[in-house]
Amino acid sequence: MTESSSDKLIEVLRKAVSRTSMLAEGNDPKLDSVVRQIRQAITKGANAEEIQEVLNNAEPLLIQSDEALANRARQIRIALEELINLLERQESKRVPQNEKKQLEAQIRLHWQSSSQWPQLLKGFLTLAENTLNQAEVDPARSSFFKRLFNRNRSTSDSQKNDQDIMMQISHTLAGLMNNLSLPSHYDEDVVDLKKALLGNNNLQQLPTLLDEVISLIMIAIGKNQESLTNYLNQLNKQLASINESISSSYFSQKSLSESREGFSSTLQKQVNDTSKAVNSADDLDSLKNIINDRLSTISNTMTEYKTQMVEQEKHATQSITLLKNKVTRMEKDTVSLRSLLQEKLAQAMTDTLTDLPNRTAYQDTILPLCKVTQKTQKSLCLAVCDIDHFKKVNDTWGHLAGDKVLRLVPKQIRSVLHKADMIFRYGGEEFVIIFPNTTLAQAIERADAIRLAVAKAPFNMQGEPISISVSIGVAELHTHEEPESLFSRADKQLYLAKEAGRNKVMAHK
Ligand code: GH3
Ligand code: MG
Ligand code: MG
Repeated sequence: MTESSSDKLIEVLRKAVSRTSMLAEGNDPKLDSVVRQIRQAITKGANAEEIQEVLNNAEPLLIQSDEALANRARQIRIALEELINLLERQESKRVPQNEKKQLEAQIRLHWQSSSQWPQLLKGFLTLAENTLNQAEVDPARSSFFKRLFNRNRSTSDSQKNDQDIMMQISHTLAGLMNNLSLPSHYDEDVVDLKKALLGNNNLQQLPTLLDEVISLIMIAIGKNQESLTNYLNQLNKQLASINESISSSYFSQKSLSESREGFSSTLQKQVNDTSKAVNSADDLDSLKNIINDRLSTISNTMTEYKTQMVEQEKHATQSITLLKNKVTRMEKDTVSLRSLLQEKLAQAMTDTLTDLPNRTAYQDTILPLCKVTQKTQKSLCLAVCDIDHFKKVNDTWGHLAGDKVLRLVPKQIRSVLHKADMIFRYGGEEFVIIFPNTTLAQAIERADAIRLAVAKAPFNMQGEPISISVSIGVAELHTHEEPESLFSRADKQLYLAKEAGRNKVMAHK
């Protein structure tokens, strides 16, 4: 992957995650704060690693908030089942079996949907009322309500049983209160209601207390009866703004875009339907029913969408991890490629016959060296050294003998060079020597030493001693001079040395 395409992918992921995070907001305050972190990380252009970290933080919270809801739903279901069992255990009345079965079916269908909880509890209330209002199973016993109103009557076994049942029902309801997680300003209400429930052994009080439990449950799931219309308006606004942010969003991934568009138009329709229904409702009860109905539809859509969103976020996280792995691999590849490149470069800079740095290396070296020298106002000299009548060596002794001379001459040159001096095979039988921090006088001296070393060296061709000489042109770098000009001046001196009879050093100030 090229750098620009990975950048693009990160950008796309950024956008997608940013949009997705907007939709997660408002479910849970802890989750909201993480969602804000995600958006901040993305807006400030954090890298993939940082984004992945905040995403990793969000995931358990998304799961947690789902789990909390699922836990409450389980509590409600258990409580409802317990309440029905308790109702059946009271001896004086028989629970109408058809109604009981219907309610149980409703519980099985709707226990997971928080918007249905009040309806289910109301269902239990109706079942309890219908049970208690029935005629006595045992006609010998006085009616349930008569007994309750007639406090002075002696307590029969059946009454005692009723009281036990009532206390257990109250306990079950009080236990349910513990799991509501209501806003803290309802704490007092919860305590009062729990006290009333636990202190109550009067079956007649059951409908009133149960009604209060239902009210609190409605508050717990965000539906305060008193501010029902306000709440609805607020909800409508929220949904509309969610809808707007979805509509105005740009999604580059088609699947993301399609699922959001579907969600967006479904929500929009549900919001519109709700508004219409609210306007046509005449009384609070029908309004309540309408809203229960609408909210459950909207809430189901949101739940479904949230599941999709979690999936997509997982997918985004996976993509980022994948991308990270790719980048890591790319980095490793780059390191090995770089060393390979360095090796190749070194090869390209070296002359294979003499093992000296070649003309390319010379060109790479001379420019920065000249600049530094000029900047630091030091002196630098350059020598161009050419083997005299080399063609003759080749012609007389053959090309291989010529090669041997080409390897031996630099050795002689090196023997008189200083540590900082540099020698290059410029081409053919021509060598360039750089003398850093060297004055012209010093360079001329060293060039002459080179000339002498070569001239004196005992070259042997097929057992026969031959003499080899070099001609050298030297020049000193001027203050504002380009390397080409320096070379050309030294080369001109080389030409003059050849002209002057070879085996000579000529220099230009
Ligand atoms: P001058 O003194 O004027 O420099 O005469 P010269 O013969 O040295 O110069 P000329 O340019 O006429 O000949 C250079 C010869 O160097 C020609 C070429 O075949 C030979 N040569 C260049 N590179 C190599 C090489 O790698 N190996 C061998 N054996 N010969 C080479
Ligand atoms: Mg030559
Ligand atoms: Mg030459």
